Amino acid sequence: MKFIMHGAAQEVGRSCIEVNTKGTRFLFDAGVKISPDIEYPTPIENLKGIDIAFISHAHLDHSGMLPMFDHLGLNCPIIGTAATRAITQELLIDSYEIDRLKKSRVVYQKADVRRIAQSIRIHGLNEWYKFNNIRFKLYDAGHIPGSASVMVNADNKNILYTGDINTDPTLLLNKADTDYEEDVDVLIIDSTYGDRDHPDRKSTEDDFIATVREKFEKGSVLVPAFAVGRAQELMLLLNKKKLGLPIYIDGMARRVTKDLFNYPDEVRDIGALKNSFHSIKEVHGMRERANIVKERAIFMTTSGMLDGGPVIEYMKHFYFDPDTAILLTGYQAEGSNGRNLINNRHVKLDNQRVTVKSFVKQFDFSAHAGMTGLRNLIKKANPKALIMNHGDPPAIAALKEYAESIGIKAYAPKLNDKIDVR
Ligand SMILES: [Zn+2]
Repeated sequence: MKFIMHGAAQEVGRSCIEVNTKGTRFLFDAGVKISPDIEYPTPIENLKGIDIAFISHAHLDHSGMLPMFDHLGLNCPIIGTAATRAITQELLIDSYEIDRLKKSRVVYQKADVRRIAQSIRIHGLNEWYKFNNIRFKLYDAGHIPGSASVMVNADNKNILYTGDINTDPTLLLNKADTDYEEDVDVLIIDSTYGDRDHPDRKSTEDDFIATVREKFEKGSVLVPAFAVGRAQELMLLLNKKKLGLPIYIDGMARRVTKDLFNYPDEVRDIGALKNSFHSIKEVHGMRERANIVKERAIFMTTSGMLDGGPVIEYMKHFYFDPDTAILLTGYQAEGSNGRNLINNRHVKLDNQRVTVKSFVKQFDFSAHAGMTGLRNLIKKANPKALIMNHGDPPAIAALKEYAESIGIKAYAPKLNDKIDVR
């Protein structure tokens, strides 16, 4: 069988791996790279004629290409979990609006976006399903609500695509289920943190809460957070610590949280999530935002990398005030406003570059397995072949070296590389 890397090869973004087996061609994910401009898997025309696509989770770097399927004449089944379908729709529609605002060339309409997301066929975890001459099964990946690793049985081999995976539990989610019932012949692994471990999670949580308390003494605290997973995680944390401070939530995180109430099994404790959500105040629209921003409060909103969404409106109120604090809660991609804020203390607000005077600190609330988790996963699955994707070159090189040191045949493909596994 042949593996073709259409994206996420030595990079983070546009996950899209084609697998050619006897009689069936399938895709693991159909993502885009978002920052700073949208990049599609390549060559995109070569994806014509795909028989079935598996979407591991809703993040746009795994699902953002779906609206292009019509344009390519692709009418194949798209497989995902129930929560993946619901959240993918939210994210695709949101990205469409942003695309429109940026006046970039979009070859599809809003109605197409909704329809393609709704066409995702819902499948549950831990059960084998059949398509053509292949079988597939989804395992909980522990990364965001709905995320799944995909096991495919084809040509008498088991191929496991981890998708983005977290092997540690968080306040929001259980850890990934890595007790695979099958022997794994080919493992395609998320390599984001292949060369480093995360700081201890409990220490990060304590540090975050202590910083919120301390900074609130002087002024408001702005918490940019990704709408899916991160915002809910922080809600749970803030509620658990009973700060007794006013907390507001704004942007898409509100809608995504309410969506999750329909999928109680996708989170560790739906009751705790509901309590947390109801203990904070929602901000509805610009007029309300313009008023509440005058209060001293904790404002949690999207986007997590300060590249759009309501966070921009808050930033306009905050950036010149040294008594305010901006607490970044996740990865900041190269070229993003968040990365520029950390490195140069600059951000772009409505195309105007400003110097930020607020206190700024970044916290590692990652939803990806760290180096030790990835190594343990490789050792446990003990595949005959390992393909590393979704990672920057140093992370991939380090993980490859480890795999080879325990006798596993490892591949670190580049974009458009083809790997033959017999
Ligand atoms: Zn992801």
